[in-house]
Parts: sequence; structure tokens; C-alpha cells
Amino acid sequence: MADVNHLDWPFLEERHRDLARSLDAWAAQHVPQVHGKDVDAQCRALVKSLGAGGWLRHAVGGGHGAAAAIDTRAICLIRETLARHSGLADFVFAMQGLGSGAISLQGTSAQRAHYLPRVARGEAIAAFALSEPDAGSDVAAMQCAARIEDGHAILDGEKTWISNGGIADFYVVFARTGEAPGARGISAFIVDAGTPGLEIAERIEVIAPHPLARLRFTGCRVPLSQRIGEPGEGFKVAMRTLDVFRTSVAAAALGFARRAFDEALQRATTRRMFNQALADFQLTQAKLAQMATTIDSAALLVYRAAWQRDQGRNVTREAAMAKLSATEGAQQVIDAAVQIFGGLGVVSGQPVEMLYRDIRALRIYEGASEVQQLIIARELLRDTKGATP
Ligand SMILES: Cc1cc2nc3c(=O)[nH]c(=O)nc-3n(C[C@H](O)[C@H](O)[C@H](O)COP(=O)(O)OP(=O)(O)OC[C@H]3O[C@@H](n4cnc5c(N)ncnc54)[C@H](O)[C@@H]3O)c2cc1C
Repeated sequence: MADVNHLDWPFLEERHRDLARSLDAWAAQHVPQVHGKDVDAQCRALVKSLGAGGWLRHAVGGGHGAAAAIDTRAICLIRETLARHSGLADFVFAMQGLGSGAISLQGTSAQRAHYLPRVARGEAIAAFALSEPDAGSDVAAMQCAARIEDGHAILDGEKTWISNGGIADFYVVFARTGEAPGARGISAFIVDAGTPGLEIAERIEVIAPHPLARLRFTGCRVPLSQRIGEPGEGFKVAMRTLDVFRTSVAAAALGFARRAFDEALQRATTRRMFNQALADFQLTQAKLAQMATTIDSAALLVYRAAWQRDQGRNVTREAAMAKLSATEGAQQVIDAAVQIFGGLGVVSGQPVEMLYRDIRALRIYEGASEVQQLIIARELLRDTKGATP
């Protein structure tokens, strides 16, 4: 929205307001809204530029330290702002955080010292390899396995939908180590790109282009010093990482929705038809009113969840509400913007057309909307059961 007066909300502090305003000014100069042909090169350039600008250090927390140092409100404001400028810039920032999040949260001091400063400076590209062809929403069904031998983990299996796959310098990989059945028998490992036995089996093209790949591990040996957290604790590591970044997916959706609204408002007030502006019709006004209300509701849920997490409180329910509401709402807002643009709205390269493609995957990854609904319901029912005499 033209006036970002949500920055005055009490969830945020002065440093957050300064951060959002200075990033907005920086992005206007340094971040083009493009989906170009060579997406790998664009991502590499964006990583460097966001690193040099000092923005990526927020993705790994102040001083490259532990999770407590990750400022959720800062991450959300950065994603919201970048998403208003460019889906690809938001993607790059988010993946540096998600890909290194497990190391920030539970890495050894040696792992943190080796990886995090380079991620923060934009000198190393990170990736998070959890999903498999037969283990997406049901991630505990994963089959990629790691057997332990001579101080090494030997990985065999596949991962798919891995963002930054093909350009990452390292992958945080979750594999079954068998300490217990299901979710309790999984461990996390850092696998450097170029490790023998790790190959990019397939590059996957998606509607909002970004580097994405299926990875294959064949007898891929990594020293046990590359394990993150305790053996068998990998699922918890993955969930803790997602817990930090889930609210930020909602913030990115919010940024997309705000950009779509700005574009729609501009178009509706300048497009003449039937001797008046499109915005003079009540049907258009109803659309704009609904869009603005959807955006504000999502923003309230996003910054409530981010603020609550920064207070050190559990946000499972609040983060799920924020993600569900912001991603589903943004899809509606962007669709309405395309409608307001008429034929122009579906022309390749138009901002609203790009936003229409940018938003779609956010309703699927890091827990599809249905998964968020189940999480919210589970939390509600647990609270209700707890209250029953
Ligand atoms: C662009 C993109 C980038 C991604 N990046 C990464 C990445 O970097 N790293 C990574 O590990 N993974 C990544 N993923 C994978 C993503 O997390 C999975 O796609 C997601 O978890 C869904 O898994 P799936 O695709 O196998 O769908 P499925 O698990 O087959 O689910 C299909 C659909 O079923 C529905 N559904 C799911 N659960 C339920 C339920 N309990 N009840 C009713 N309906 C349900 C939902 O509508 C869901 O969309 C990415 C995906 C995309 C599209």
C-alpha cells in the first residue's frame, strides 16, 4: 500500500521501522522486478547484492549466533518489502535463512563459524533438502537413508523440490538414520555441493522461475562432524527451522498482495471507460475495499505471530493462522488485481501477471493450507480438551 502505516503498529519497534524504510529505499534502486531468462545468474547476483547490502545477516540472526538472535519481525518486514519489489529477491533472502536455519538453531560452533558468516555476506548459497517424491506433506515417510560407518554418514536416496538445487554451495539434508521408527529416526547433515555421490538428477521448471531440483545421493559420504543436532533428532531440527520461517512465508504473501493492490489502485483510478474512471464504479470499489481489508487482516496476523515469537512464546497456532490467512488472502487480492487490469492483467511480464504466478506455490510449500488448517484445529481442540473438567 502506498502508505505503509502498519509500521506504526505496536508490534514493531523503532529499529524495525528504520529497517523497513531503508530496505524499501535500497530495493527501489537495486532490485528489479523481473523473471528473466537466466534465473540462476539472477539469483547469484541477488545473493551477492543482498549480502553486500547487509540484509542477509538478518536471515541468520545478529552476530551469526543462535536462534534467539533471529528477529522474526525483521525477517518478516524484509520479506514483505522484498516481495513488493521482486519475488526472486524475496526467494533469495528466504532461502539463505531457511537453508542455514538449522545451523543457526542447532549447529555446533564450528559449523556456525564455517557456514553462517559466508551465508550472511552472500558468499555461500544455502538449501534445505527435506521433501522427497513420496514424502511431501507426510514428511516423516521419507526414505532417503544415512548409514553410519567409520565416522561418516553414507547417504542414499532422493530429495525433490529443493530450492537453490543446482546453485547451492551446501545442502542441509534430512535422512533416515533409524534410531526409532517414523519421525524419531531422522538426522540432519550438511552436505557441501561437489561432495562425491551427490548429483543434481533433474532441474524442475516452475511457474514463477527459481532454481529448483531433484537431488540424488548414491553412497554420498559426509563426516559425522557435519551432523546437525543429535542422532535421531533431525525431524525436530526441521520442524524448529520451519517454525521460524513459516510466519515469514505469510509476510512474503503480504508483500505480493500489497504490490498487487497498489497496481490495481493505480489502474482503477486512471483507466477510463463509460465516461468515468474504473474506480468510480461501485463494483470496483467493493473489490478494492475487500482487497484492502484482506491485506490488513493478514498483516495483523503476520505481525502478531512475529511479535509473539520474538517474546519467546510458542507460535504454532498463530504462525499457522498467519500463513493460511495471508497466502489464501493474497491469492484472492492478486486475482482481483488481474481482473481490474482486464486483458493487460494476463500479459507476460506485467507486474500483476508475475504476482499471479509468484503467489501460487506459497499455498503449497512449508505446509499446504490444509496442513495449516489441521494444525490450527489440533491446537484449538487440545486447548478445549485441556479446559474440560
Ligand atoms: C516452488 C516450491 C519450492 C519448494 N522448495 C522446497 C525446498 O526448498 N525444500 C524442501 O524440502 N521442499 C520444498 N518444496 C516442497 C514442498 O514443501 C512440498 O511440495 C509440500 O510439502 C507438499 O508436498 P507434495 O508436493 O508432495 O504434495 P502432497 O504431500 O502430495 O500434497 C498434495 C496436496 O494434498 C493436500 N493435503 C496435504 N495434506 C493434507 C491433509 N492432511 N488433508 C487433506 N489434504 C491434504 C494439500 O492440498 C497438498 O497441496 C517446494 C515446493 C515447491 C512447489
